[in-house]
Amino acid sequence: MKKKVAVLGATGSIGKNAMAVLRDQKDRLQPVLLTARSDAKGLLELKKEFPGALTALANEAEGAQFDFDFYGGDGLLSAIAAAKADIAVNGISGAAGLEPSVAAINAGSDVALANKETIVMAAEIILALAADKRVRVIPVDSEHSALFKLIETHGKNNVSEIILTASGGPFREYSQKMLSGVTPKEALAHPTWNMGKKITVDSATLANKGLEVIEAAGLFGFPPEKIKVVIHPQSIVHSMIRLKDGAVYAQMSKPDMKLPIHEALFWPETVCSPFGALDFASLSLAFEKPDMEKFPMLALAYKALSGGRHLSIAYNAANETAVKAFLKGEIEFLEIPRIVGYVVEMNTLAYSSIEDSGESPGSVEAILDADRAARKMAEEFIWSKK
Ligand code: NAD
Ligand code: MG
Repeated sequence: MKKKVAVLGATGSIGKNAMAVLRDQKDRLQPVLLTARSDAKGLLELKKEFPGALTALANEAEGAQFDFDFYGGDGLLSAIAAAKADIAVNGISGAAGLEPSVAAINAGSDVALANKETIVMAAEIILALAADKRVRVIPVDSEHSALFKLIETHGKNNVSEIILTASGGPFREYSQKMLSGVTPKEALAHPTWNMGKKITVDSATLANKGLEVIEAAGLFGFPPEKIKVVIHPQSIVHSMIRLKDGAVYAQMSKPDMKLPIHEALFWPETVCSPFGALDFASLSLAFEKPDMEKFPMLALAYKALSGGRHLSIAYNAANETAVKAFLKGEIEFLEIPRIVGYVVEMNTLAYSSIEDSGESPGSVEAILDADRAARKMAEEFIWSKK
């Protein structure tokens, strides 16, 4: 029997890669739900190609004009419940991916999770809910996909630290002075990965790696000091683990998200794929230390991680707000870490007076409240500087 697959965010970068995997594995995978936010045209094309799948457009106003099965934010959640997929690929960008992850788990679907914000904002709730519903959360983010398999193979008890690789983004070799003038266009030119706009800007500030450090802590349960980051400009080694005896194991493949999506869709099976195979004749790999002073978003992530879930939520929300403003040309590149630093600092102060500040918010609603509050704080900070 074919595996029933939902693709959330089917028109985005992860979504397109997921659709390519579905086309490659037609005999084993069957799309049952395809969703997008506002790209009605893209979703209509997919509907034509896969007439058997339900479709949902999250944008209410536009969705109502077309012949989709569901539309609007609540419609998206109802669609996930109705589809009852065996596995849902969550390729929605940003905090908007959290509720769809919850809906998928509640529907009894495994989750192939690209939306790192789900874990950054709500690791405790998500993993507890998944255990309760007996479904699996399988990471798709390439570093976490690599770590998931490496830890699974070698046993968590044998691992002394995990090492996430980072490409370093397009500004790895820029001086502080050069960084001050960079434009959205320059930030959107990633050297090794072709991704959505938000994550591409995050790769340029190293906020993406910051979010991934928090994601790794949430998924695998390692403390901040056992999560390391190394710059690896070629993006061939997707992450590594160091065992207690000193041996280091790495996962290597081409920088192509189709492979981690394919792996997540079939895990724990290993199924032949045309993706990712390396040609060692033309490979040369380099590693270097990340510059946390030039890229303060990474240091801020470690700070947020050490301070409890509220700070991770604040870090993510402030960063989303700042990146949106940067892409609209409202703020400069170097203001992104300033805004996030301010919001993390204010939240550190606010929560330091609360006794149970280390605890995670107890519900998705409380998490979304904390997210909204941090966005508002970031917006007010941006406006106060104008
Ligand atoms: P993208 O912007 O290319 O695509 C996002 C998709 O989500 C689109 O289909 C869009 O319609 C949909 N969407 C956006 N907002 C929505 C909302 N409010 N409600 C419903 N649907 C919504 O983004 P992307 O680069 O594919 O990234 C998606 C997620 O995957 C992010 O969390 C990102 O960090 C993670 N990720 C991406 C890559 C990559 O290669 N692109 C790699 C690793 C992890
Ligand atoms: Mg990644």
